[in-house]
Amino acid sequence: MVPIHGGMIRVLLLDGQSGGPYHNWKLTTQVMKAELDETGLFEVTVMTAPASGGDFSDFKPKLSHYQVIVLNYDGPSWPEALRSDFEKFVSSGGGLVVVHATDNAFPDWPAFNLMTGIGGWRNRTEAAGPLWYFKDGKLVSDPSPGKAGSHGARLPFQVVTREADHPIMKGLPAAWMHAPDELYATLRGPGKNMTVLATAHSDPKNKGTDHDEPMLMVLSYGSGRVFHTTLGHDAAAMSCIGFMTTFQRGVEWAATGKVTQKVPTTFPTANDVSFRVDLAAMDPAYLNGASSPVIVQPSRQASPVHPPMHTATAPKP
Ligand code: ZN
Repeated sequence: MVPIHGGMIRVLLLDGQSGGPYHNWKLTTQVMKAELDETGLFEVTVMTAPASGGDFSDFKPKLSHYQVIVLNYDGPSWPEALRSDFEKFVSSGGGLVVVHATDNAFPDWPAFNLMTGIGGWRNRTEAAGPLWYFKDGKLVSDPSPGKAGSHGARLPFQVVTREADHPIMKGLPAAWMHAPDELYATLRGPGKNMTVLATAHSDPKNKGTDHDEPMLMVLSYGSGRVFHTTLGHDAAAMSCIGFMTTFQRGVEWAATGKVTQKVPTTFPTANDVSFRVDLAAMDPAYLNGASSPVIVQPSRQASPVHPPMHTATAPKP
């Protein structure tokens, strides 16, 4: 697909539902739009779909107008006609970007689970596919039975590059400290045509698996390219310059197969978080002091100054 409209890449940012109030999708859509807009590369259209089970009779987006769909949507189902349009869009060469809890969506839609590779929650079990993680430097699948999807408290954690030569990763450090976020673990799925670009170690001291869990992935589905980031629970997590950069690059790559964006000089280093105050401050909770990205020195075993908003006896996605 060739960009038109002055060379801008046409992006459909599609939202409309989340699994619960812990994901403020209206806000995270605005943060993602701001991040895409400031690159000058994208013409972003935000579209809000009905919630699952709602009236889809007037919801007929012309997907073929866009080069890439950024999906910020977590619901159980869509009508067959929309699913079919969506599958056709991606399989015929459209780009797809899957952000955080979007990989919780649609557990019963096989094509969607092939596009995302792995997902969690929504009653997924081993029937959804094996667990996928890195062991001894390699991606492995683990058929152990059990639930899918878990995370601990929102702390900063280190993201480790696994495919330094991929266009999305080129020029990024070998490891960087991500701002406080949910570190997704025990995700399951078919994992077909999936390349894991980056992992993070899931710490048993924070309800983790002790595995190096996939954080950033690329997949192919037919002729379509998919970029899947498990990062980005909230505006604070998305204000991380590591999230922002990989997201901006992932959207460009999913649309065109190339990345023309430079790595910002403010990119986080192996031990220090780097985030954008203006993006974090789009969240009213941040301005109330309830959802601050906290700079900590992980080497000093620091705990966050502000407790996570849900410390999770029963973790939500
Ligand atoms: Zn979340």
